[in-house]
Amino acid sequence: MMREILPNLYVRTSHIQKLQSVVFRAGDALYVVDPCYFPDEIAEIRELARNFEGDVAEKFVILTHSDFDHIAGVPDFADYPVLAASTWDPMNEQGAIDQIERFDSEMYVDRGWLGKMPRVPIAHACQHGEQRGALTFYHAKGHTADGLVTIFEHTAIVGDYLSGVEFPFVYTSYRDYLQTLSMFREVFLAHGIEHVISQHGPTALTASEIRHRLDTSEDYLHRAVSLVERGITRGLSLDEILAEILDDAGDFSYETKPIPLGIRRFHTNNVRRIYEEGV
Ligand SMILES: [Zn+2]
Repeated sequence: MMREILPNLYVRTSHIQKLQSVVFRAGDALYVVDPCYFPDEIAEIRELARNFEGDVAEKFVILTHSDFDHIAGVPDFADYPVLAASTWDPMNEQGAIDQIERFDSEMYVDRGWLGKMPRVPIAHACQHGEQRGALTFYHAKGHTADGLVTIFEHTAIVGDYLSGVEFPFVYTSYRDYLQTLSMFREVFLAHGIEHVISQHGPTALTASEIRHRLDTSEDYLHRAVSLVERGITRGLSLDEILAEILDDAGDFSYETKPIPLGIRRFHTNNVRRIYEEGV
């Protein structure tokens, strides 16, 4: 179900990882952000977008980054030029296309295409700080190298950062991730941001919730870094640190709860990445 959470801005929550697809109108353009994941969900997003197409001069798909759960709907919007970060990572995109094929063929998901999804046809590569129509774009690195944040009036659409349901997943660099969180603080202040739409889990609609998301993400990363530091000080190898984490994963809480089993591997991957990046 599409929900109008702000004037002219609709969100749809997928059955996969509470992914938030967004449809919104700004000026005389229509934007669809990360239309995903299952075909019936994409069809519903397509249907809502179609209702607005007659009222606007332009229409675009915006991709927050190249992970598989965010790009699977692109072929269903073939007539929408795609906006993505100029840092778009074709290697990650290729891996994501493979992952969509694996996921769909394992879960028996039928789509309008067979085999591999075509490569994403990027029509415009957005620069950090670029203004385009009513929107401003920023790059956000750390989760992936190609994150794109979209600012529209007092709303920020931030991709997989500042989620209300998951701790930071660091796929590329924890230093970049921390820098991105600092950048958010500055950019949110500069744009008077009141709503933050993260692409997994509920939207942050108050200043205190936005602050809480920033604080908990930073706190998680700082604790993960000091865990690695302590291990190194005690003379432990990476494997020994990871073995301890598997024993103690229940003790490393996030949002006052133990890290759930199903996403614990993202925690151990984070620790591995922090160790390899160096503390
Ligand atoms: Zn995601």
